[in-house]
Amino acid sequence: MAGQLTKLLITPVDMDCNMACKYCYNGSSWQPRTTPDRVISIDTIYKIFDEIGPLLKSESLVVVWHGGEPMLAGKDFYREMVAAQRRATNGRYKVSHCMQTNGTLVDAEWVELFGQLYIGPSVSIDGPAHLHDAVRVFLDGAPTYDLSMRAYRALQERGIDPGLLVVISQTNVKSPGAIWEWVLEQQFPHFDFLLCIEPELWRESKQVFGLSSDEATEFSIRLFDLWFAHGDPDIRVRTFRDAIKSQIGGHVSVCSWKAGCAEHLSFDASGNAFPCSRYHCYPETCMGNIHAMSLQDILHTPTAQWVVQGIQAGQARCDGCKWKKNCGSGCPFLKYALNGAWDSPYVHCRTRQALFEHIRERIFQAVPVSA
Ligand code: SF4
Ligand code: SF4
Repeated sequence: MAGQLTKLLITPVDMDCNMACKYCYNGSSWQPRTTPDRVISIDTIYKIFDEIGPLLKSESLVVVWHGGEPMLAGKDFYREMVAAQRRATNGRYKVSHCMQTNGTLVDAEWVELFGQLYIGPSVSIDGPAHLHDAVRVFLDGAPTYDLSMRAYRALQERGIDPGLLVVISQTNVKSPGAIWEWVLEQQFPHFDFLLCIEPELWRESKQVFGLSSDEATEFSIRLFDLWFAHGDPDIRVRTFRDAIKSQIGGHVSVCSWKAGCAEHLSFDASGNAFPCSRYHCYPETCMGNIHAMSLQDILHTPTAQWVVQGIQAGQARCDGCKWKKNCGSGCPFLKYALNGAWDSPYVHCRTRQALFEHIRERIFQAVPVSA
């Protein structure tokens, strides 16, 4: 293994979805389609896994299936996908499959399939029913909370430990207390939260569901205080663990906290390669197509070089920041998408700095830690 890749992201049906979450398609050129326009072919899957081996950093690869709603690709697709992956991999390296899903399509057969194929699901639920159903709805506006929760529980009952991702938008940003109470009531062992930004609307100062920097900061600090005051280390909040670990030298998991882009590669349903799935709506960042050139060549196209140089320029911009080694310089995609320039400010910069300062005060005040 002589490469640098550790994670592959694949959108098997691109942005097609059986739901129409208001922050997702709001102001976006994408429209949800309940019947996939296109499903990635098994031939494409085979080519990707056949060629990626020599480009890996170690003998293991994490693959994240997401979308849109990746379950729209269907049960047979995942059976065939795993068979093709095993044929292509042929024992050369280990593959761990994960999936980010809204959970509404999960039935007993899907639950079994996740177990049989060793696909680790994470369910998106935005807090208690009244907060979740205000924004995460079907195309006809019908609520989805009960179905998403039912999926989470069914997976748990099968012995699967699902992830939980809570998007923080205008709908629930003022409700950290309600979200925390819900976490305790439902006895979720771990979760993470994602601060909503609507890139296309942000550029015109017209966000509807996306957060301002002040809102994101206030929410993050308040939720941290609730978590910290509760004092149960067995409830794991990934963002807080990463923020703490970054100060004590532990392993940080989220890409944007560790300048992790270089380890990622993403494919859309047509086999187009991007630096990360977040760029799929930005065709100028497409590095090539797996059916037109080798993966090795894709990573060396002029576009790939441009992206790498851009990411490095964004990281260099943070050179004077005392939190750089903790922060990892943030997410390059958001720098590019919001400002049209890689070396521009990171939208969650102030939130991160405030969180680092706050954690230092709350946790490390008795033990000096160098930044
Ligand atoms: S662009 Fe952002 S989300 Fe994508 S790999 Fe890089 S840091 Fe992670
Ligand atoms: S806190 Fe802000 S300035 Fe500092 S490294 Fe992160 S993004 Fe860059």
